[in-house]
Amino acid sequence: MADIVKVLPDAVANQIAAGEVIQRPASVIKELVENAVDAGADNIKVVVKDAGKTLIQVIDNGCGLSENDARLCFERHATSKIRSADDLFAIRTMGFRGEALASIASIAQVELKSKRTEDDNGTHIRIEGSDLLFQQPTACSNGTSIAVKNLFFNVPARRRFLKSTSTELKHIITEFQRIALAHPELQFSLFHNDNEIYHLDHSGQRERITKVMGKHLDTNMVNIKTDTSIISINGFIGKPEKARKTYGEQFFFVNGRYMKHPYFHRAVVQSYAAILLPETIPSYFLFLETDPAHVDVNIHPTKTEIKFDEERAIFQIIHAAVREGLGKFNIVPSLDFNQEGAVDIPVYKPSSDFTPPAVEIDHTYNPFDSQAPDKKKTDYPSDKKSIAGWEQLYPEPMYREEGQPSEPQKTGLIQFKHRYLMAPVKSGLMIIHINRALERIHYEQLLEGQSLQDNPGQKLLYPEPFDLNPVDLALIKDLQEELAHLGFVIELFGGNSILIQSVPGQFAEDNL
Ligand code: ADP
Ligand code: MG
Repeated sequence: MADIVKVLPDAVANQIAAGEVIQRPASVIKELVENAVDAGADNIKVVVKDAGKTLIQVIDNGCGLSENDARLCFERHATSKIRSADDLFAIRTMGFRGEALASIASIAQVELKSKRTEDDNGTHIRIEGSDLLFQQPTACSNGTSIAVKNLFFNVPARRRFLKSTSTELKHIITEFQRIALAHPELQFSLFHNDNEIYHLDHSGQRERITKVMGKHLDTNMVNIKTDTSIISINGFIGKPEKARKTYGEQFFFVNGRYMKHPYFHRAVVQSYAAILLPETIPSYFLFLETDPAHVDVNIHPTKTEIKFDEERAIFQIIHAAVREGLGKFNIVPSLDFNQEGAVDIPVYKPSSDFTPPAVEIDHTYNPFDSQAPDKKKTDYPSDKKSIAGWEQLYPEPMYREEGQPSEPQKTGLIQFKHRYLMAPVKSGLMIIHINRALERIHYEQLLEGQSLQDNPGQKLLYPEPFDLNPVDLALIKDLQEELAHLGFVIELFGGNSILIQSVPGQFAEDNL
């Protein structure tokens, strides 16, 4: 029998590699923008059409490529970032595997224009499914522009697996956010179908976070900072009471690279421990810096999973830093959050006088004498009579059934602080969160109404404006039609704002 083992052609090998590195349009954005960062650009523009299914273009003002390099960079394992295996332990760049451009060029139509400052002419290259279509000199600005068209055009099975435009756009925005958050010193912009989703001038870390994730964070997060011989941590953590039930504002970065780290995530969440509402996840943006020799970023093709030498010690450091930060929420007034400095803690001076707390002893007290008057206790109501009428303490009228007299009912529901209803039940006390209960009732009503007919909605006298973050905005845009069927007529208001014009009838009287 003849030999059957063959070495795969490069184009096939590249497509296989692309299977790992490029899962969807967002992966292309990640690779191209990381290359622009590595090229020293300080202005990076991302242009996307149809959530990247037809076009992804990244334009940078970085170092550019020579004529030869412009061709070579599409070869597999072609990189300017490492020379030997030893270099793997001193990685400071985003890329180093030399496979992104080769992978992308094997599954898309790619056009590159690039010029170095020192060259008179730039280079223009077209490559499609790993085949070089043409290369020629061109006049272009300094830096690099790479356009990736019709991703997976030659891998129909993968193209079919792409999700809806809004889902793919959400992934793109997420990748863009990760890089933009890691590099506040750089300018970024993101366009989708000619709409500018982001325009980020270079800024400080706090401003970048609020510009990228939303204004709500501005007064709701506090700076944390720790320097140890193993690692230094800088960043922001969110107020416990603002923690949300969904993920989306949890970010770890190590040496300028976004990473997922479930173990360190646990360190943060454990620091918040009992102060979080059930099932909520705190926001955090933590930037770790460490000697590259002590991390391995090469355990995963997309480099988002990273191994640390001293994970247990780092866990403890993160835990302590977050706990210290949480302390600031209690002592730093919210208006001072912009001062990212340390907190003043009074220092004990041995020379200063202090008075020890006085202890009062009641010498007449005999714990075994049941008749003895208990002086201390007489301060409190000890008999039933004095607590009669306790319901009056609550400013709100008691809940009443239709047609019932307005007098408080001792056995009915009690409203507490406008937020809760309390009712005695057989097994104890039932506490109902009024707003949540109302939301649930509306939700059930909407579900019922939806299956019967379209809800015409009721026009609001004063349309309600809302500022959203770009991810939620993309979602609303996608759901606009369905929401209108439910009675929510939403108008896009420019930037990241929307106007709610109508709400379902049953919501109209509620204060939304
Ligand atoms: P890696 O980033 O892992 O080195 P890539 O395939 O992403 O591999 O890129 C290959 C090489 O092409 C890079 O090492 C770099 O030298 C060059 N390159 C890629 N993109 C750019 C860019 N935007 N500007 C300048 N050089 C680039
Ligand atoms: Mg790269």
